[in-house]
Amino acid sequence: MSDEYIGVCDICRRTEDKAGKLFSLPNNMHLCNDCMQSMLDTMNKIDMSSLFGKGMPINIGGMPPVKPVDEVNNAGDSVDEEKVDIKDNDKENTSNPFTGFPNVSFLNLTDLQGMLSGKPQIKKKKKVSDEDRVPLIDIKDIPKPNKIKEMLDEYVVGQERAKKVVSVGVYNHYKRVAAEGMKKEDFSEDLYDVEIEKSNMLMIGPTGCGKTYLVRTLAKLLDVPLAVADATSLTEAGYIGDDIESVVGKLLAAADNDVEKAETGIVYIDEIDKLAKKKDTHTRDINGESVQQGMLKLLEGADIEVPVGSNSKNAMVPLATVNTRNILFICGGSFPDLDEVIKQRLRKQTSIGFNAELKDKLDKRKDILSEVTVEDIKKYGMIPEFIGRLPIIYTMEGLTEEMLVKILKEPKNALIKQYKKLLSMDEVDLEFDDGAMEVIAKRAYEKDTGARALRSIIEELMLDIMYEIPKDDNIGKVIITKDYIEGTGGPTIIMRGSAD
Ligand code: ADP
Repeated sequence: MSDEYIGVCDICRRTEDKAGKLFSLPNNMHLCNDCMQSMLDTMNKIDMSSLFGKGMPINIGGMPPVKPVDEVNNAGDSVDEEKVDIKDNDKENTSNPFTGFPNVSFLNLTDLQGMLSGKPQIKKKKKVSDEDRVPLIDIKDIPKPNKIKEMLDEYVVGQERAKKVVSVGVYNHYKRVAAEGMKKEDFSEDLYDVEIEKSNMLMIGPTGCGKTYLVRTLAKLLDVPLAVADATSLTEAGYIGDDIESVVGKLLAAADNDVEKAETGIVYIDEIDKLAKKKDTHTRDINGESVQQGMLKLLEGADIEVPVGSNSKNAMVPLATVNTRNILFICGGSFPDLDEVIKQRLRKQTSIGFNAELKDKLDKRKDILSEVTVEDIKKYGMIPEFIGRLPIIYTMEGLTEEMLVKILKEPKNALIKQYKKLLSMDEVDLEFDDGAMEVIAKRAYEKDTGARALRSIIEELMLDIMYEIPKDDNIGKVIITKDYIEGTGGPTIIMRGSAD
């Protein structure tokens, strides 16, 4: 294998740096030590003599024959022991016809299946007594809420309250995880037995306001694995689509198949509002409701068997057991028309339904979503048990034109900064006029898809610039003007060596 590539075990899919040196088998197969060992263990359990009959040499796959059990037992010299590194106790185990295993080309599918279902390569967590408890997470490694918020500020524009709620929620979540591994003496008598509830979250906000982006940024900053799934693609087990448990599989993959890491990761489920029971009809949306039901045990904490290195469970794929108790679940959705549910309640509560002026004021309120209560979400169609498992509920604002301008230029990965970097590699300086940015933001705002529209607008505008500018080595700076964006003029081009 060349230096550029790293070997991967064909069974557990772990890379060589994680699984240790790989064995090379015929048919270009590579196995790690653990899988190899469990294959040998499986072979030990198979009584080959009953399969092949006494005295028959075993020759599978066209390789040199290996003598059958009784010959091995009697002669004991038929295996080329020098070539094989076998532990002493294996050598003593003369009932194993395959102690000379690397000389044998066999791979019998049934054996392989039996072996795989034994989950050989996943390191399982040991049950520990109170004395041996070790914190899964050292709380000192988790930044304090104000630090988390500060870090988020560098990426996410606006959404002040959401960033604060998330920072505290996540900090408390990891404290809860840390507390599980702490000992009695770490707490005062009356606090040791207090169970901290899980702080799964529900995030409500319009499309493109940064819900997914906030969670992605959070996971990146905290360096925890993240799986993002779309609720509309989830089905109950047995239906076509990804079954609910597949989100845990995705998380395990994001954690490089490290079960312990996955068990403290984050799962973000988008479009959760699409699972709401249909309102105002007698035919209930059974599927959405039952997916909500199916998610309950995940949200709360359950042992889930997930395939390793694949998204389908079948006999050839090893399974790992992942416990979801310490996985933080964040659900997000735009909940269209939830504002109507809230307004209806507010009108009833304050009996302003009859007061036209107050009603008008209520209708015009832009931040009406921030008044949301659990009751509103239930009325919207989420089942009480589901909402009950998402105790932290917060809303995100729709982005204004001013926020869109900031998103263009301020965050660490701001779109304009990305283009600046690209052109800087041609030694060209790029600038955007304030007026130009305002027009771009206005156009994006009109599309009503939040910050999503910014990228496509900028990409289209920048195509000619990115095509033409690198051609001419004399160009030192480009200023994108409002006129250029509006199609009434060109960008300002400044040649190298001329004064700005
Ligand atoms: P949604 O709320 O629909 O999940 P996303 O998080 O996917 O929206 O936002 C789409 C993109 O828009 C993000 O990848 C990010 O680049 C940008 N974006 C959205 N909101 C913000 C924000 N508040 N601050 C910075 N960038 C944002």
